[in-house]
Amino acid sequence: MPLPACLRGCARLLYCIPVTIIIMVVMWSYYAYVVHFCWILLTCATQRVVFLCLFHMCFGMFSWSFWKTLSTPPSSPSVEFQLSSSDSLLYEQEHGGKEKSQILLEISQKLPVHTRTAARAIRFCHHCQLIKPDRCHHCSVCQMCVLKMDHHCPWLNNCIGFSNYKFFMLFLLYSLLYCLLIVTTVTPTFIQLWLGKLFDSCVKLHVLFLTLVSGMFAVTLCFLLFFHIWLLTSNKTTLEWLSVPFFADGPASEAFDVGVQANFLQVFGKKKSLWPLPVSSSQGDGHSFPLRWQMSSHSHSVMNGNGHYAMEGSVG
Ligand SMILES: [Zn+2]
Ligand SMILES: [Zn+2]
Repeated sequence: MPLPACLRGCARLLYCIPVTIIIMVVMWSYYAYVVHFCWILLTCATQRVVFLCLFHMCFGMFSWSFWKTLSTPPSSPSVEFQLSSSDSLLYEQEHGGKEKSQILLEISQKLPVHTRTAARAIRFCHHCQLIKPDRCHHCSVCQMCVLKMDHHCPWLNNCIGFSNYKFFMLFLLYSLLYCLLIVTTVTPTFIQLWLGKLFDSCVKLHVLFLTLVSGMFAVTLCFLLFFHIWLLTSNKTTLEWLSVPFFADGPASEAFDVGVQANFLQVFGKKKSLWPLPVSSSQGDGHSFPLRWQMSSHSHSVMNGNGHYAMEGSVG
């Protein structure tokens, strides 16, 4: 049952709390590193310049990828996956589950849909009234179907999916680099603080917390980044890792794995110069993906006029 408007407004405000905390921690880390560490504690001018340059490079890339992950709206399926008003009427009039499934099966014939429910039926979203493309899932927080949905990230208050997965990977990478840079440059001063050689208690507190918080985030981000590198190279989403996708012949956990290189290129694109930048370069349109068993030695995937993947040559 849909929530009343005032409760929806309250829920939206609550969802903003984690991302606000993250932004405040980042702003404080910038202040603590630049003012207290570089400006007050460092006495060597060369070291100060080198550290500030490296820090701002990391901070710039981190902020850019963070903003892109946060602000890129999740992409929803195109209109061809939506039921037409006549199909919708026909679907609603039928009462039997079998008949409804048959209607969806007939409509799906012209769509590039391979995944099924556990009961081998066409995947249909009752909220959005559409046939779900492969790897698409309905997000109850965003209240929409999201293409190649990975997960809904409460810390970013956004869905991670086809439209921003590359940005999310870069966000993990640059935030880890940001934390590691802080830890490695501040640790010698941190040790001096422990030995009691440095003065001001306010500076002490900022530097101590900066090292501890950065170290804590670095460990967490390291695990998260390596987990997502493993998902990327095996072409799985977090949801597919949690629940194996079903096809007409049954479940297939490796269905979208077409080789490490091809899996990487699907997300990062072929243009190497764009790999480190949080700009769109992913292949395809997020509605269809090459399947492992279709990639025989005589076939290769090509994109048709609609941006969907289609197979050329023999299909096994
Ligand atoms: Zn939906
Ligand atoms: Zn979502």
